[in-house]
Amino acid sequence: ESLVQAGADDLERAAEAALRPRRLDEFVGQRVVRDQLSLVLDAARGRGKAPDHVLLSGPPGLGKTTLAMIIAAEMGAPLRVTSGPAIQHAGDLAAVLSSLEEGEVLFIDEIHRLARPAEELLYMAMEDFRVDVIVGKGAGASAIPLTLPPFTVVGATTRAGLLPAPLRDRFGFTAHLDFYSADDLERVLVRSAGLLGVPLDHTAAAELAARSRGTPRIANRLLRRVRDWAEVRGDGTLSLVAARAALEVYEVDDLGLDRLDRAVLTALCTRFGGGPVGLTTLAVAVGEEPETVETVAEPFLVREGLIGRTPRGRVALPAAWAHLGLQVPAASGT
Ligand code: ATP
Repeated sequence: ESLVQAGADDLERAAEAALRPRRLDEFVGQRVVRDQLSLVLDAARGRGKAPDHVLLSGPPGLGKTTLAMIIAAEMGAPLRVTSGPAIQHAGDLAAVLSSLEEGEVLFIDEIHRLARPAEELLYMAMEDFRVDVIVGKGAGASAIPLTLPPFTVVGATTRAGLLPAPLRDRFGFTAHLDFYSADDLERVLVRSAGLLGVPLDHTAAAELAARSRGTPRIANRLLRRVRDWAEVRGDGTLSLVAARAALEVYEVDDLGLDRLDRAVLTALCTRFGGGPVGLTTLAVAVGEEPETVETVAEPFLVREGLIGRTPRGRVALPAAWAHLGLQVPAASGT
């Protein structure tokens, strides 16, 4: 079963890659970030230098990886992809850094999960374009300084607040990606439908946009599921009827909440009386990692005014009770 799942994940990744914008002017929405980034890249091009290091933060699926690829493409530079969890030891990072070409873009996903020694090595390299390669062990070990060609780190994180200040300070440009408006998601959907060569009704696009949790990755995924429905059970057109039917099959509700979102809301309201409840307790109740609840589910629930974060924990707001069709208990402080 896990093999089947792994295969399905690969297919999803391939489908996603096919819809990725390649250039900055194909990247929908996030106008401010796009403007700022375009200035950074134009300036670097004008000087014939590698652009400043770039830090991208925001919830999953909003386009961090896409932007890293776009930065490399716009600069005509090679791209190297790695991630915080993939780098176990400082030596792994030293090996990557010492093999970079001039101008190369090094994308480090989940950069907040780098181990401390790797982190220290990275910010030295970012600042001075130098790494110390340790040769030998114990008392006989010595550090050989190695000069690196200029390169650009693009770091991505769902939690910018977790990055230690010395690392954060090494980024010359920091951008926060926010959830997309329904209009922008509609443009993402229309673009994707065009690339897939499927006819998408305007009303269906609007319905999907409203139920994609402000997230292009989810919009594209729902689009593919509606296409499935239309081909298998409908007449092949991606109509409003097909969209609604597919959304029902995949248990996406009218706010666009998915199963995890609803599990969090339900646990918060029915098991913890609306809170406040600590993140870890809440995560255990829904059978997820605290980090997943905090970075995947919560940002959207907070933005929709369904839950609040207080110093004492998470609380359900009146809209949460209403969404679940429950009465706000009289004793609830919210
Ligand atoms: P994660 O951190 O989980 O990898 P991410 O923020 O890096 O998420 P991406 O992989 O860049 O997200 O984007 C997910 C998908 O959404 C991409 O395949 C891309 O097709 C689409 N997408 C993201 N942003 C945009 C955009 N601004 N315009 C059009 N499509 C987009």
